[in-house]
Amino acid sequence: MTSDLTLREHLDAHGLAAKKSFGQHFLLDLNVTRKIVRFAGPFEGRAVIEVGPGPGGLTRALLESDAGKVVLVEKDPRFIPLLTELDDGSGRLTIVEADALKVREAELTEGPTHLVSNLPYNVGTALLIKWLTGPWLPHSLTLMFQKEVAERVVARPGDDAYGRLAVISQAVCEAKLMMHLPAAAFTPPPKVASAVVHLVPKAERPSAQMLKHLERVTAAAFGQRRKMLRSSLKQLGGAELCERAGIDPEDRAEVIDLNGFLRLARASAGETPPAEPATDGPTLMRRKKA
Ligand code: SAM
Repeated sequence: MTSDLTLREHLDAHGLAAKKSFGQHFLLDLNVTRKIVRFAGPFEGRAVIEVGPGPGGLTRALLESDAGKVVLVEKDPRFIPLLTELDDGSGRLTIVEADALKVREAELTEGPTHLVSNLPYNVGTALLIKWLTGPWLPHSLTLMFQKEVAERVVARPGDDAYGRLAVISQAVCEAKLMMHLPAAAFTPPPKVASAVVHLVPKAERPSAQMLKHLERVTAAAFGQRRKMLRSSLKQLGGAELCERAGIDPEDRAEVIDLNGFLRLARASAGETPPAEPATDGPTLMRRKKA
């Protein structure tokens, strides 16, 4: 590993300028990337997938950690030679040139796997939804987003940022905002600040089918967030649906908590929800956790 060069010198030596189309904003300060890895771990020998390693600032911190394996998924082929320099030949590092939106993570590692990424902002939300609603779910997800997106993931009822992303994220995971980073921490700096979110899948979470109902209900409810639910959910049953779910049809989406949305999803699936259920229920099942 030729780590005696700074990351910036590596980038210059390889003539690598950041590409906007790939959402490239690099973290070149190892103190920052080590801190993110501390929030993500401990890994206790488990595998870690890093999406979008770019020049490898976060990768270097992951390689210093207790991760058993580190698998990199990078779409931009320009970075592959630079990342290959981090391989000490022990077999601990695997580099995959692929689009993370299309890759099948289950085929990349065996056993419990953590996910760590300074996400490309243009596809960050799409990737999060893929992991939350897809067949493969990591042991934990530690993800850098634009601050505004991070706030949407952890928002609570009544917060301005509360919406679909909060409901879907929190139906599947416990979500915590771990740290803020100013735009100046990145090279080149993005227009907005960033934040790291740590998500841990809940033992009991909605089935894939129930998540589809939850997505449909939250899309309708927050699509017209200023309207009462009896109007915004009209296509799905309006006031009658709300009543079956034990929800006041005159409420607006922004005050309905996770349990309320889960009851609406169950009612729209044709189930009779219990009056005041816990977060689990008859439709909750275990999805494969990596
Ligand atoms: N991890 C590096 C760091 O912290 O300095 C780079 C982070 S940069 C915000 C996002 C990275 O994701 C870039 O390396 C970019 O090429 C890569 N990327 C963009 N779209 C991708 C995709 N669909 N699949 C995999 N990697 C992608």
